[in-house]
Amino acid sequence: MNLHGDIERVLFTEAEIQRAIDRVAAEVTSAYDGNDFTVVSVLKGSCIFASDLIRRIPIPLELAFLAASSYGSGTVSRGLRMNFLPSDNEIEGRSLLLVDDILDTGKTLHFIQAELDRRGARGVRTCVFLDKPSRRVVPIEPDFRCFEVEDTFVVGYGLDLAGRYRNLPYVGALREEVLSRHSRPDSTTG
Ligand code: 5GP
Ligand code: MG
Repeated sequence: MNLHGDIERVLFTEAEIQRAIDRVAAEVTSAYDGNDFTVVSVLKGSCIFASDLIRRIPIPLELAFLAASSYGSGTVSRGLRMNFLPSDNEIEGRSLLLVDDILDTGKTLHFIQAELDRRGARGVRTCVFLDKPSRRVVPIEPDFRCFEVEDTFVVGYGLDLAGRYRNLPYVGALREEVLSRHSRPDSTTG
């Protein structure tokens, strides 16, 4: 079984992704030059983006990870919780760059940003690989982003469907028959 066969069309190729990351890495570098900061990668989806991004940022930084997930029925009263966080001394008084795979409704990033603020971060900026502004529920704009995407469910380059497809090196839309085997996935399992 080959994952490539499940992809209907490629939205962003490997080469396009690398060019966009070069641009965002340069933006992040000039924004933080002279300031110590920590890149906080939101697991699991952003691990590939974060690891490509930080290798193009030639100034001192630290790296941390966190994970959040949703609970509840999936239709009503869906809540969010932190699964794990960096230790307090990695957050308190630090400038943080929160890195996520995709900004969709905005609920996840808003929740995580508030939690980091509450734990005493000096400042939290956000950097997302993909931005789907048409889906926004919480008014939040990323400080840095690689691409804007239409309202299509996408996989690859860290983004999954039911845990799969994260290892595709490009971003693609799935074929209809693949999608119809799954209900629209709950959006916040990383
Ligand atoms: P938000 O809280 O902004 O609605 O959700 C963000 C999370 O939803 C992302 O971290 C990601 O896990 C998931 N998500 C949203 N849109 C997509 C998509 O098009 N493809 C995939 N694979 N995950 C998505
Ligand atoms: Mg996910």
